[in-house]
Amino acid sequence: MSCLFCRIIRKELGSEVAYEDEDTLAFKDIHPRAPVHLLLVPKVHFNSLKDDKAEEAAKELMAVAKKIAQERNLAGYKLVFNVGREAGQTIEHLHLHLLSGGPSELTI
Ligand code: AMP
Ligand code: ZN
Repeated sequence: MSCLFCRIIRKELGSEVAYEDEDTLAFKDIHPRAPVHLLLVPKVHFNSLKDDKAEEAAKELMAVAKKIAQERNLAGYKLVFNVGREAGQTIEHLHLHLLSGGPSELTI
């Protein structure tokens, strides 16, 4: 499969891994929009939250985000799913943005 994030999950492409378990990989966003900007992805491919059963994977991603935030003592953080191209989703593999820290943080 040519999906970019599947290739990162299979370690065919490099990434700066921040967290990994059986079901989830978290790595640094290549174009960080905040001092902490991680992408959390399920190891099983879903195109987006629109897919059947994707909400179960999304729930797991939120649990991992919470765990990472607790481990790093993040005072506050933002979680973003872009769902569909119309909302700015550019990579068609379900992912959760975890953003935290500093004035460059998104304000939405
Ligand atoms: P989205 O716009 O929600 O689809 O987010 C996709 C994100 O993937 C963007 O923030 C990109 O900066 C990020 N991205 C694209 N290619 C890579 C890569 N090779 N490694 C890490 N992050 C990437
Ligand atoms: Zn994929």
